[in-house]
Amino acid sequence: MEFRRVHKTCYAATHCLLLTALMVAGSIGATDALGAGGKVSSTWLVRANPARIVNGTPIFLLVTPPVRLKSLTGRWLGHEIVFEHGSGRTWVALAGVSLETKPGSYPLVLDGITLEGSQNGFRKNFTVGHAKYPVIQLTVSKQFTEPSPEQLQVIKEDQDLKHKAFSVTTPEREWSGKFAPPVDAPTSDVFGTRRVFNGATKSVHQGLDYRVGTGTPVAAVNSGTVILARPLYFEGNCVVLDHGQGLLSLYLHLSEIKVKEGERVTRGQLLGLSGATGRATGPHLHTAVRWQGVYLNPAALLSLRLPESQAKNLAPPQ
Ligand SMILES: [Zn+2]
Repeated sequence: MEFRRVHKTCYAATHCLLLTALMVAGSIGATDALGAGGKVSSTWLVRANPARIVNGTPIFLLVTPPVRLKSLTGRWLGHEIVFEHGSGRTWVALAGVSLETKPGSYPLVLDGITLEGSQNGFRKNFTVGHAKYPVIQLTVSKQFTEPSPEQLQVIKEDQDLKHKAFSVTTPEREWSGKFAPPVDAPTSDVFGTRRVFNGATKSVHQGLDYRVGTGTPVAAVNSGTVILARPLYFEGNCVVLDHGQGLLSLYLHLSEIKVKEGERVTRGQLLGLSGATGRATGPHLHTAVRWQGVYLNPAALLSLRLPESQAKNLAPPQ
């Protein structure tokens, strides 16, 4: 019932309060004191924000090792995480949990290199809970559920283009501080919704929809580099930003694009105007967040408290 009024929506993502209410959240699990380098250590402090992790959530990790480190990497759910040195002995990184991740306990394995060059590691298990996402029925033009051979060719070319754009992201952090909403408007469809198009084609909404009319200014959620700014078949006029550390943000169905590929942008900068281009049932903004190939809940990212980058002061002590 809740979603019958959702008529302006796109193919791929959310809504924070409802989603939070629907989530059956997990909690932080027990800690193992066995270092990945085989060294026993008991004074590592490993914190995750949010404290309750579910499938589809981004996670901000803060790690304080017992000694000063030269570098810190981590392994989490098959992903390699490169931490950035924060203040004091603390290291920070953004990570995430895919929608497909089953509830359970998963290890974060940390590998540090001390200033003297020796290994110092740690391992901590986190419990991933199960988020329950809604299902909605939608109707779109047939060309989006049963594309012609010519349209399939365009879709294939788009996929190649996206694959290429997504594979050249920068590991260095470009984002700084809290992520800001791209528009000042209510959301109309939440991340994780399972969608049935024209009674048959199924997909999962991998972003967050905002209820805005055509022509509403759309702003960058954080600092980054424009890696894609062009029309695509399903996405319509589309802008993709690389925020570093494997994190991208996407803005779909725009009526106009106001940035160029390769351009650096800061949080709040105009990227384009909202619209209804591509597979959209009406004007709205679809925003998505992608980390290392995994779509994450944008509402959860927007609610994270994050530090400003201290890029100039980030070099570890020599
Ligand atoms: Zn959407």
